[in-house]
Amino acid sequence: MKKRIVILGAGESGAGAAILAKKQGFEVFVSDLSAIKQFYKDLLDSYAIEWEEEQHTENKILNADEVIKSPGIPNKAPIIKKLKEKGTSIISEIEFAGRYTNAKMICITGSNGKTTTTLLTYHIFKHAGLNVGLAGNVGKSFALQVAEENFDYYVLELSSFQLDDMYSFKADIAILMNITPDHLDRYDYKMQNYVDAKFRILQNQTSDDVFVYMNDDPVIQAEIVKIQPKAELYPFAEKRSAGVRAYTEDGKIYISTLNGNFIMEQDLLALTGTHNLYNSLAAGIAAKVSDISDEKIREALHDFKGVEHRLERVTRVKGVEYINDSKATNVNSCWYALQSMQTPVVLILGGTDKGNDYTEIEALVCEKVKAIICLGVDNTKLHSFFDGKVPQMTDALSMQEAVDKAYSLAEKGDTVLLSPCCASFDLFKSYEDRGTQFKECVRAL
Ligand code: ADP
Repeated sequence: MKKRIVILGAGESGAGAAILAKKQGFEVFVSDLSAIKQFYKDLLDSYAIEWEEEQHTENKILNADEVIKSPGIPNKAPIIKKLKEKGTSIISEIEFAGRYTNAKMICITGSNGKTTTTLLTYHIFKHAGLNVGLAGNVGKSFALQVAEENFDYYVLELSSFQLDDMYSFKADIAILMNITPDHLDRYDYKMQNYVDAKFRILQNQTSDDVFVYMNDDPVIQAEIVKIQPKAELYPFAEKRSAGVRAYTEDGKIYISTLNGNFIMEQDLLALTGTHNLYNSLAAGIAAKVSDISDEKIREALHDFKGVEHRLERVTRVKGVEYINDSKATNVNSCWYALQSMQTPVVLILGGTDKGNDYTEIEALVCEKVKAIICLGVDNTKLHSFFDGKVPQMTDALSMQEAVDKAYSLAEKGDTVLLSPCCASFDLFKSYEDRGTQFKECVRAL
C-alpha cells in the first residue's frame, strides 16, 4: 500500500513538499486552516493533489504515515498535539526534501543576518559558475527544486522553526550567525530552548563537515564549550584572536582554511557595517572551503548588490541621506544599524512590540540620535523609555506623516533611518510593505 503523506500548510514550502511527495509516489493530502492562495490551489490541481482549506479534517489527517508541517504552525496547535499523541512522525519540508537529493548543503541560521548571508553566499557560488540552488526561507521552495532541478549545491536559509522539525538532515557546511533573543513566545520563554533549536543545525555532522560561527557571540561560545561539535570549526570574528579563522586586521580581511588563505581589502567589500562584515566573512569561508577561487570570491564580495529593506540606501534629498532598514524587526538589528551610522540620525522606530528591551540601543541612541519619530498605533513604551533622553520625540500614524516629519527635522548632513525594532503588523501588511511605503514617500519628497 502507498504511504500516506499529509502536508499541513499550503504556502510555498507546503505546496513544494506536496509536489515532491507526489512525484516520489506517495499518497498526498494537503490541509490548511486558512484560505490557500489561488496560485497554490492551481499548482496542486495541476499535479492532481487533493487539498482542503479553512479546515483540518481529522480523519484525513490522523491516518497519515508521516506529516510535513509548515514552520508557521506552532506545536501547541490542536492538530499537532493530536498527531503527537498518536506518535506520528512530523517533519519539516527541508527534512523531507533532504532525503531526495545528494547535493552539498550550505545551511545558514541565526537570529539576524540569515537572508543577507544566504543571498551573498549564493551570489558567490553562482558567480563562480557552480550549479547552485537557493532555498529555505528565501525564494522558491526547497522541495519543489529537489523535485524539478538537479543542483550540485544548495544554499539554504533555515529558521529555528524549520530546524525544530529536522532529524536526519545534515548540513555539509553549517553557518550560525548569532543568537540573540527572538521568537521566545514559541520556546516557552526559555532562551535555552531557542539556543537548542539553533544548534540543531549541527546535528548529524561528522568530522568531514564544516561549522562556521560567530566567535564574538557569547551565547554561541558558551554552547560550543558544552557540546564540543564534531565538525571542523571555523570561528569568525571582527578582530584576530587565538583560534579565529576569519577576521580583519589593518584594513584587510583574512580567511584561513585547509584550502589555503584568502585576503582582501576590507573597503572593497560591497556590504558595509560590522554586522555585514560578519556576513561577508561567513559567506567567504563557505566559498573558500568549497574551493572557489580567490578571484571569484573577491569579485563577488565586491559586486554584491545588497538586499532590499536591509540598511538599503534610498536616496539623498537636500543633503540628507535616507536609509530603509525596515527588516530590523528586533532590537539587535537596529543596534547594528545605529552602530554603522556616521552622522546625526533621525530615527523612525515603532510598530508591534515583541517584548523589546530598549536598553541595548540606549547608549547609541543617546550618542547619535537627534530625533525619534514613533511610528506605531501604541507608542507608550517608546515614550516611557526614550522621553528626556533624545532632544526631540514625536509620533506618526502613517508612513507619509513619518517621512514628512523626518524631512522637517533633518538637516543637511544628517541621516534619516527607518530601523523600527518592531514587527510591522499594526500599520502595514509586512515589513516589505513598510519599507516600500517608506521609499515611495522619500522619493516623492
Ligand atoms: P534575517 O534573515 O536573519 O532576518 P536579514 O539579513 O534579513 O536577517 O537582516 C535582518 C536585519 O538584521 C536587518 O535590519 C539587517 O540590517 C540586520 N542584520 C543583517 N546582518 C546582521 C548580523 N550579522 N547581525 C545583526 N544584524 C544583522
